[in-house]
Amino acid sequence: MKMVKMALFLFIFVIVAALLASTIYYHNYTPKKLNIKPDEKALAFYRETYDDARALFRSNSDALAKRFNSVEKTMFKLPSKTDNDLSVDLLYIPAQKIKKGLVIISSGVHGVEGNVGSALQAMLMQEFMTDEMLADTGFLFIHGINPYGFKYVRRTTENNIDLNRNCLASPELYQTKNEGYPQVIELINPQGKVKTRSMENIFFHLRSIKKIATASMPVLRQAVLQGQYEYPQGLYYGGAKPESQIVSVTPFIKKYSSGYRVVLNLDLHTGYGENGTAHLFTNPVTNPEVRQMMDKVFEGYKFDWGDTSDFYTITGDFTGYVGKIIDAKYLPMGIEYGTLDSQNTFGSIISLQRTLLENQGYHHGYASEADERRVKEMFREMYYPSCTAWRTKVILDTKEMLTSALNKFKKL
Ligand SMILES: [Zn+2]
Repeated sequence: MKMVKMALFLFIFVIVAALLASTIYYHNYTPKKLNIKPDEKALAFYRETYDDARALFRSNSDALAKRFNSVEKTMFKLPSKTDNDLSVDLLYIPAQKIKKGLVIISSGVHGVEGNVGSALQAMLMQEFMTDEMLADTGFLFIHGINPYGFKYVRRTTENNIDLNRNCLASPELYQTKNEGYPQVIELINPQGKVKTRSMENIFFHLRSIKKIATASMPVLRQAVLQGQYEYPQGLYYGGAKPESQIVSVTPFIKKYSSGYRVVLNLDLHTGYGENGTAHLFTNPVTNPEVRQMMDKVFEGYKFDWGDTSDFYTITGDFTGYVGKIIDAKYLPMGIEYGTLDSQNTFGSIISLQRTLLENQGYHHGYASEADERRVKEMFREMYYPSCTAWRTKVILDTKEMLTSALNKFKKL
């Protein structure tokens, strides 16, 4: 009897110790350290606020308009209930001799990811726009397509809409049912004021692991990230109609892409994947010719077609939409810069928790100022890391990758 008691005690002790250890590990989680020396020149492309990033975009646009022929600088204001100075800024530099390919580079579809996207655009504008590059290739830069989220540090628009789930070319798609979403709704859309030290939040990783154990990681990832059209306050809500910036940007994309044989769209994101790594991903492409072209352009770089279990597919994404409104051969490519090693279980759980707490706080408020500060800081850090090594690596790796990709694109 004594032995049984001892064994039971030991068993409980081991379980409690394991739970405690996992909780301590979870709350001290950091992604893999990057061993790269910060580079002042690379860091100089970053701006901390939407206003400053837009000012840099405009001054780079002015400089390019002076250097090249027929450059068009344009912008449209975004209607808002709270802010009358939100705009989407565009710069079109046509191919200077013969129109072959057009490269569209879009930033800030998820507002808070705009600081990084804008920095990359600045780098491309300052370092890639040469006579040789532009002889047969045009560029369309779209800056901060979700300026509300960019300025107010949210992923979504002012209407809580995830713009990358909202860009639908036909209205019936807003009726899309995400079958897996109800499975996760309770976990990812908590109600009430945010209390970061509540039991629910302290043991969030255990609740998530329980879910992962009952479904599987790829199934859950798909359910969470695919997008949904039924819960307006929920995460990854795609809305009931196209957001006004999508309507407004459409004629510009149509106009500037006309006359080009092939269009490559690089849409810049942050947050998902291995810390400091540029992940190339696209929704499944069925046209074999386009698939071949993309293989050629990104030769030497691994990319995900959205049809493996490591990634996920989404509905209503921006790059998919652009392909539907233009006539040219179209190569859609998202570039996502990882921050929290979300390819690991704990990294993905912590990413989800940060994203949902910010959404909960936005809709239901915070229990204290400290909770609000903590959540907002962690949220921004996930999409715009302050680490100078990270920021440097993103600029340098992209420069190297796009030097290769754009030269191959020119040869298509
Ligand atoms: Zn994004």
